[in-house]
Amino acid sequence: MPITVVGSIAYDAVKTPFGERERMLGGAAVHFALAASFFEQVRVVGPVGDDFGEAELEVLRGRGVDVSDVERIPGGETFFWRGEYGWDLNSRETLDTKLGVFEGFAPKLSSESRSSDVLFLANIQPDLQREVRAQLPDARFVALDSMNLWIDIARDSLVAAIKSVDCVILNDAELRQLTGKANLFSAAREVLSWGPRVIVAKQGEYGAALVTAESFFSLPAFPLENVVDPTGAGDTFAGGFVGYIAQQLRSEELSDELLRAAMAHGTALASFNVEEFGTERIERLARAEIVARLEELREITRFSSDG
Ligand code: AMP
Repeated sequence: MPITVVGSIAYDAVKTPFGERERMLGGAAVHFALAASFFEQVRVVGPVGDDFGEAELEVLRGRGVDVSDVERIPGGETFFWRGEYGWDLNSRETLDTKLGVFEGFAPKLSSESRSSDVLFLANIQPDLQREVRAQLPDARFVALDSMNLWIDIARDSLVAAIKSVDCVILNDAELRQLTGKANLFSAAREVLSWGPRVIVAKQGEYGAALVTAESFFSLPAFPLENVVDPTGAGDTFAGGFVGYIAQQLRSEELSDELLRAAMAHGTALASFNVEEFGTERIERLARAEIVARLEELREITRFSSDG
């Protein structure tokens, strides 16, 4: 089932203990779309400026992503983010955010983008998320990501957006901040009581947990020795998770089994993303590598209770 994603399309400047990039392709919608493109047709909605290059659009087109709703704003500048990581790659400092073309952006969705059965509202201003959600009233599965900034300055709007989706994908710290509950399960239960059926708590290098009204499931991150740049890992996880669900919803209902398998796909995709800077690794990822990593993930999480 085709997926529409709305969110940032960006240039990122990133420094980690293992190197730096001054201006690379990034943005939540980009990381999501590249990952989800391994499973389904993806349509990206979002603005870019005059400065956004054809080569960057080609990265998306190269993975079969539909970019006809990427709107070029004349005279505008592409969203820019600068961040730096220390040795603890789980915590980063945002040094600069330039909203550029996102200021005053009103999403215009083509009839194709409005007809998708699956929608991902990547991290952007929650009013924009609600506007896009309203344009796909019949979508079968809608998921949302957000960040501390919007909890700080637009909490009411974010809560309204959350009430309109099936699935919320947030960092554990963001779930705590959003609900004011220190305990992750209590925080997830609180968000479930607002309407969504599925909560995914991302925990960086420690993995991700899935909470629904009936069940709990958790996977560690795939153990890697060469983590170079975690930027976009959360969105890449979401791309694998939502992408797999969109693919499977063609033939099955949303079940606990399907959600667990989707967690594994999100985990596998995210593990590739962090091996190199930005989108570099995912750009040349092969399907066979995903299959092999899923197999390894199955092996490291398997145990027997016999004896
Ligand atoms: P993640 O590491 O998964 O949280 O995502 C990082 C991506 O989010 C980067 O590529 C940034 O361009 C993008 N990003 C950072 N801050 C914001 C923001 N305030 N709004 C939208 N996108 C952002």
